[in-house]
Amino acid sequence: MKIQFWGSTDDVTGSMTFVHAKEGIFAVDCGMAQGTNQAEEINELMPPTNPKEISAIIITHAHLDHTGFIPRLVKKGFKGKIYCTPATSKLMQIILMDSAKLNTDSQLYEEKDVSLTLPLIQMIEWNQDFEVAGVKCHFIPAGHILGASSLVIKNEDKTIVFSGDLGRFEDPILPPHPLCPLADVVIMESTYGNKQRLASIQEDLANFLKKVAKEGRIGIIASFAVARGQTLLTLIHQFYEEHPEFKVRLVMDSPMMKAANHVYKKYKDLTLHSEDVFEALDDIDAIEYQKEWDSLRKKEGPLVIVASSGMLTGGRIGRHLLNWHNDPKAILFLAGYQGAGTPGRALLEGHRELRGPDEEFFRWEGEVWHSDAFSSHADQGELLTWAQNAHAQKIFLLHGEPLAKSTLKKKLEETGTVKVHIPARGEIVTI
Ligand SMILES: [Zn+2]
Repeated sequence: MKIQFWGSTDDVTGSMTFVHAKEGIFAVDCGMAQGTNQAEEINELMPPTNPKEISAIIITHAHLDHTGFIPRLVKKGFKGKIYCTPATSKLMQIILMDSAKLNTDSQLYEEKDVSLTLPLIQMIEWNQDFEVAGVKCHFIPAGHILGASSLVIKNEDKTIVFSGDLGRFEDPILPPHPLCPLADVVIMESTYGNKQRLASIQEDLANFLKKVAKEGRIGIIASFAVARGQTLLTLIHQFYEEHPEFKVRLVMDSPMMKAANHVYKKYKDLTLHSEDVFEALDDIDAIEYQKEWDSLRKKEGPLVIVASSGMLTGGRIGRHLLNWHNDPKAILFLAGYQGAGTPGRALLEGHRELRGPDEEFFRWEGEVWHSDAFSSHADQGELLTWAQNAHAQKIFLLHGEPLAKSTLKKKLEETGTVKVHIPARGEIVTI
């Protein structure tokens, strides 16, 4: 069996790896590059295998950087099956439809390509065996977001595990996931390969919400609509239940977040929470943008707004930032990792210039808060613990910035893994 590395070799997005098995070629994840200056260029590149010759795509989880390229392959002739868990399938539909709307300029694909993609999905439960190109496969839980999985494949006498994106061991809404099973080869993410998470999500958020309430501030929270949004809204709901004295008007301005809330509610059994919590998410003030924007934009604090995107690369958050950009009461809360090259990262690095929804430039004068605790990724210690359990002979590292990958490589080698390799785009290895 040969494995050809393609996506997420240079950074943390665009996950896509090709497995050349005896009876065909399949892709593990099929993501879109995002955020960086080179993202557009990368997304224009076609993968090394003709889409018509790819027999299947196996998806570890719904995030755009793992699914966003599928409709592009479908547009170019892919007709095989797409395997993923049921919850992933539901979240993926929301994400791909949104992506088609956002990418009309780049002409990568359109809504009709997404409509052709969805019927190809084959839902597979965790631990249920399925066969692709003569290779036995099954998914196991990976934490991270609802439905997220690692993929275990068995080829002759070898076991190979693709980590997908790994969650933390203590997630606020998802139960702990198992460690990597015994494997010969592990292909794993390394987003937080150089970071230990010290901050607490609950504490960071509580400090922010208290400040907004006590000082009558306009608190604008930048969040991804899917997964991060549900974690945030759940925690805000819990905080207000426990501390009604700090409760202020909470507005969710994201139809996509609302749709994802419904999927979390449908699959509540996969979470740590009961129906009540997700019912409460339904009751959040989801503003109808056209009708309510005019009154909302004149509001004085205290007010909390949750909008996407999480790294300020688009979405409705731009309008809120533009509206309150020179209001001393406004605070922006960046909830989570800010990718290299994104406006969110630029703000953290001290730049203040942002681009509004109509491409207008403005200066953000308000405070900027950031919490790294909001990641749904395992940190360095968790990645090491997860990987060591495999007792693998070889580990390949993907999905991390260069320093994250090199640091994790060193740590893994210190703990006795025989070989750790950081593959390049297009590199082929035989297993
Ligand atoms: Zn992810």
